[in-house]
Amino acid sequence: MDDLPPEAEIAGTSPLSHRATRCGSCVNFLTTTLKTGTLNGMPTPRSTRSKLRKPGSQSALRQLNQQRIIEALRGGPATQAELARQTGLSTATVSNIVKIMQASGLASTEPVTSSGRRALNVRLNDNGAVAVGIDFGRRHLRVVLASLSYRVIAEESVHLPLGHHASEGIRAATELLTRLLAESGVERSALLGAGVGIPGPIDRRSSTVAPGAILPEWVGIDILSEMEDALEIPVYLDNDANLGALSEVTWGHHRHVSNLLFIKIGSGIGSGLILNGGTYYGNVGITGEIGHATIHEQGLICRCGNRGCLETIASTTTMIELLSRGKPGKLTPVDLVRSALEGDPATLRVIDDAGLAVGRALGNVANLINPEVIVVGGPLAGLNGLLLDPIRRGLIRHAVPVVGETTSLAISSLGDRAEALGGAALVFAQSVIRKT
Ligand SMILES: [Zn+2]
Repeated sequence: MDDLPPEAEIAGTSPLSHRATRCGSCVNFLTTTLKTGTLNGMPTPRSTRSKLRKPGSQSALRQLNQQRIIEALRGGPATQAELARQTGLSTATVSNIVKIMQASGLASTEPVTSSGRRALNVRLNDNGAVAVGIDFGRRHLRVVLASLSYRVIAEESVHLPLGHHASEGIRAATELLTRLLAESGVERSALLGAGVGIPGPIDRRSSTVAPGAILPEWVGIDILSEMEDALEIPVYLDNDANLGALSEVTWGHHRHVSNLLFIKIGSGIGSGLILNGGTYYGNVGITGEIGHATIHEQGLICRCGNRGCLETIASTTTMIELLSRGKPGKLTPVDLVRSALEGDPATLRVIDDAGLAVGRALGNVANLINPEVIVVGGPLAGLNGLLLDPIRRGLIRHAVPVVGETTSLAISSLGDRAEALGGAALVFAQSVIRKT
């Protein structure tokens, strides 16, 4: 293999279990198995128009091999010989790719002595490769810039008007990204791509938001193409709860957890699953719709068309409606948290009922997948035990005893940043380095 050019060596046999996958409409996706943030199943939706998605091209193989070296370097600097051992690539391939990475500012080298022999130590340049994480909500937009070493370089959240159209949101994201780049001094050429979270189910066959999203104005729009046109970088699209789950096993406190469920309780209720170390995408990508688990068959009509879904009992929208009756003005989730922490009996009752219903739905899911940890995120995270306690009661009541007792429940430590940070992690997990 030593005589071959770097792009000729075929990845797929290394202990890191890399796998390049293809489908009819999306080519040259890279799926990697890492200790943290592993993705498997269907590839994340990404526009088909990037020049670098020709399957099996020499450029694609070189990018794949470069990604393997970057993954090996995430654990810290290493000599070229060590990189060859860790990646399974030949020393000549490693040497060639390191030269390319050095020239493009991704890595730097320094001579060292290893086992009495001269060697070249390689380290990643922190700002040489930056991922963008973007989280869209009904009323907000958050953008983060993150380095390969999982350091946040810049971050900002802005309000979006309720009922905004996708084009408005995309324009706001573009402007915010431009401002963050200017303020942080990060070059646009350092951007690997943007991982974008949408609060709705994403049909991975068409890469569009499916009906039932909290953002109905975004349904059916080719967000990938529009965002790639606007941002001029590769875009990876995912459901926001999936990104929340990914952030917990990359940025959060659960880095060694292989089976995790992240549930986001907000104006909608959705969940993301990490199963056997990877995000679970199911058949067409619509998973984790726990908000539409039936709790009361004769309950309120849900926005999905069914009756008595979990969302009709436990979403912040429902809780706020219940607590706003007969009062001037409308409460916000922040008001709800404050009232509960102040001990308001009505608020505590509504939260208790909601938590029990969430726990019941989670009990059924836990029976099926036996997660190690369930993480609760969303705007009510500040409630901590006031929300976790009824959820735990509902879980224990409805799960098989040994499953209920062995499933840990936790509030997300990442708060309202979880989804955007997960977006950045998605880029690191899936992107190939485009600088060649
Ligand atoms: Zn429903």
